[in-house]
Amino acid sequence: MSDRYLKFVNTPLGKTAAQSLGLPAPVPLKRWKRADQPFIEGDVLIGAANGSKAISTVGKVLSASAAKLFHASTVDTLNDSSKSGNKAEALPLNVDIDRKFSALVFDATGMKDTTDLKAVYDFFHPTIRKLAGNGRVVVIGQDPTTCRQPAKAAAHQALEGFVRSVGKEVGKKGSTANLLWMAPGAEQQLESSIRFFLSPRSAYVSGQVTRISKGATAHASNPVAPLAGKVALVTGASRGIGASIAETLSRDGATVIGLDIPPAMEDLQKVMAPIKGKAMACDITDEKAPKQIADFVKEHFEGIDLVIHNAGITRDKTLGNMPEHFWDMTIAVNLTAEELIDEELMHQELLRENGRIVCISSISGIAGNFGQTNYSTAKCGVIGYVEAMAKQVKNGVTINAIAPGFIETQMTAAMPITIREAGRRMNSLSQGGLPVDVAEAIAWYCNPASNGVNGNVVRVCGQSLIGK
Ligand code: NAD
Repeated sequence: MSDRYLKFVNTPLGKTAAQSLGLPAPVPLKRWKRADQPFIEGDVLIGAANGSKAISTVGKVLSASAAKLFHASTVDTLNDSSKSGNKAEALPLNVDIDRKFSALVFDATGMKDTTDLKAVYDFFHPTIRKLAGNGRVVVIGQDPTTCRQPAKAAAHQALEGFVRSVGKEVGKKGSTANLLWMAPGAEQQLESSIRFFLSPRSAYVSGQVTRISKGATAHASNPVAPLAGKVALVTGASRGIGASIAETLSRDGATVIGLDIPPAMEDLQKVMAPIKGKAMACDITDEKAPKQIADFVKEHFEGIDLVIHNAGITRDKTLGNMPEHFWDMTIAVNLTAEELIDEELMHQELLRENGRIVCISSISGIAGNFGQTNYSTAKCGVIGYVEAMAKQVKNGVTINAIAPGFIETQMTAAMPITIREAGRRMNSLSQGGLPVDVAEAIAWYCNPASNGVNGNVVRVCGQSLIGK
């Protein structure tokens, strides 16, 4: 489904019309194009609060990138990071800055109390207007739950409010702002998340907080084919978001088992053929499904690395009008089937070391939605499942969820036009996302270097106004 308004508003006539009528003027988002594309280009400015520790990892990652790196010269810790081999050029912030930055990255992990928040202002106030269109703001703080002092916890929690507000300001230019909350000592786990949030892969992710824990040792990954040698199961892979997940994981090197209901086999084969994936016909709510999936894995591969629970349905009705089978089916497909499949794969020890489980929630599961008590219940249950499982998984396995907002698929194309237009525009980027935006976030979770990313629910929603 194409967004005609987005196209129109980016013509000279459309721009003038939108301006004079005060209508939203969404900027086309730059997305990932080629496997060997640098994750970031252009000028990048980094800075840090005194005593911050993540900055040297950030400096190293960016020094090895195609970006030209600058560091805010007023900040002491940057001298340390310069010594550790990053090639950043010092840039004073108290003079007129005559360049545009493709990204602004600030490490606030050193903040000890709320007075240190001033360092955030000092870094961003003179630079935020210098952020280029489709730019990136990334702030790194300490996970407040790991701060013993209330004043320190308050300072690091405050970063969430800051980033969510910045996201709303920079979204007009197609730019995003995100926060990484690190556990102490998790610096080595940062790289895959820095790469994701600075790259076009995160084009539709804004205002999000990701917790990064120490995790198992992060495995350096091949940037062109990070999933080489991995086997992925993608449910609901015949169309929409699932098809894009299958294609994206295959692009990143994985071998894909695409699963869908028997009537969708023709479409599934069309998705699987070009990526040399294996198609499996299965209704995941069938009581035999978990065992059938395990048997399929054993028949074709020795085990499985990536399990992506994408299959989902909606059966909308207000609660008083909702037939029992609408409730039962929606809970069964969107929630219970995922638990049973994981249970079987783990029971049979088919999920390999450093495996990844990814579930799809929804912003409806966070905010609730009219006529979707069944769907919102299931999608909120997904969040509970992921958060509880994240504490139990072993052997380097992680489990995370994506909560998509308005994504351009057959599901959203079927909406009445007024609801569809509202869904598209009610976010900081004033447009709908594409299936690939969800798929790219899943590929980041699946990256072998994302070991410290566990138990997160990241929204791919352009920072939708719905939900928190
Ligand atoms: P879609 O309807 O286009 O695709 C869903 C796929 O799941 C279909 O191929 C369908 O055949 C398959 N499926 C349904 N029931 C199944 C079953 N019992 N067994 C096996 N396969 C089954 O949906 P989509 O828009 O691509 O959504 C994908 C996921 O993202 C779903 O979980 C959905 O709830 C979620 N989501 C989508 C949006 C959006 O804006 N499109 C927003 C939030 C969440």
